Amino acid sequence: MNLPATDSTNAIDWARVRADFPLLTRQVHGKPLVYFDSANTGQKPDAVIDAVDDFYRRHNANVSRAVHALGTEATEAYEGARSKLAKFLNVRGDELVLCSGTTFALNLVAYSWALPQLKAGDAIVLTRMEHHANIVPWQLVAQRTGAVIKVAEIDERGELDLAQLHSLLTPEVKLLSLTHVSNVLGTVNPVREICREARKRGIVTVVDGSQAVPHRAVDIASIGCDFYAFTGHKMSGPTGTGALWARREHLAAMPPFIGGGEMIKEVRFEGTVFNDAPHKFEAGTPNIAGFVGLGAAVDYLSGLGMRNIEAREQELLAHFNEALSKVEGLRIFGQAREKAAVVSFLVEGAHAHDLATLLDLEGVAIRSGHHCAHPLMQHFGVPATCRASLAFYNTHEEIEAFVAALQKVRRLLG
Ligand code: PLP
Repeated sequence: MNLPATDSTNAIDWARVRADFPLLTRQVHGKPLVYFDSANTGQKPDAVIDAVDDFYRRHNANVSRAVHALGTEATEAYEGARSKLAKFLNVRGDELVLCSGTTFALNLVAYSWALPQLKAGDAIVLTRMEHHANIVPWQLVAQRTGAVIKVAEIDERGELDLAQLHSLLTPEVKLLSLTHVSNVLGTVNPVREICREARKRGIVTVVDGSQAVPHRAVDIASIGCDFYAFTGHKMSGPTGTGALWARREHLAAMPPFIGGGEMIKEVRFEGTVFNDAPHKFEAGTPNIAGFVGLGAAVDYLSGLGMRNIEAREQELLAHFNEALSKVEGLRIFGQAREKAAVVSFLVEGAHAHDLATLLDLEGVAIRSGHHCAHPLMQHFGVPATCRASLAFYNTHEEIEAFVAALQKVRRLLG
């Protein structure tokens, strides 16, 4: 793992870290911006913005195609990002398929692994807290194969009911796909233990790491899953970047699901010989500048240390919870014992969108809505919640400003 030896959050000047993020100095509606929407997308440090800018100004060329100097530089920068990501997550570079993000990565597993493998009578296990990106691809697979979907439920704390989940892992189950960290509740799932149980029963496991990789040290190799998907824009990188990690034996056996240039060794009208993994899954010109930026984001996060980032965010979360406990009429969704800095809530008598709109006028950016998690909203019997999600670049002062704005908005709505 790429963690600094001096992994102490006190050693970091978080005010200086915040100054690396130019957007955070903005005013919105004449008020200083309080950006509490990092679970939606993360803000970018200068190092990432500069890397993308420098790529287009000095190195822009296509990858793996041209022998000229710029082509070599672009290829090295793109492949360099793959190597950085691999080291960051403790896996091999040739096991990482670079793609546009988690949605693509999960669809790749659905179309290239599940579609050829599953048949009528098989089952897929998902959990109540999945993002639509980890539900809809499996529904499409189920429709086409005749497989059925079973759902692992959550308890009153917003944690998975592990006994019920294990009871679902019957012989018909061929695949289990679950999120590492809930984008709505912040619940951190014990993915290692769950994947171990699934593996014992020969079930293939997929982990959606979208909300984990940006906030904690993730060692994919130690989780013991078969596939791990994540997205770059939530981890300080550019939009349109992400990756799927997969065990080599799966990558070797899986057919590609998107065809085109780059993913082939030889094309004849009689038939095509595909490239080796991971390239056989990377058809067409990739988001080269985006991955150069993502490589810079990995350097940036590694420089801070993921354990320091997690400790900083836990310290902010503790303050946030304490500040929110003083607000009357607040309903908080999810109180998991292991939780990321994501808080979903509603204020008695107020609609989530009204709250978010009024908070926006105070300079506070949160998300309101179903958070691409309809089944979770159905569980709680609400159409929408407000969600405040913090990152290491937020401050204790912003938490106080948020609570003051929330109190003001409550009075307005009350
Ligand atoms: N899974 C989870 C848990 C998410 O939070 C998100 C994004 O909000 C996604 C999947 C989809 O990620 P993307 O839109 O980057 O593909």
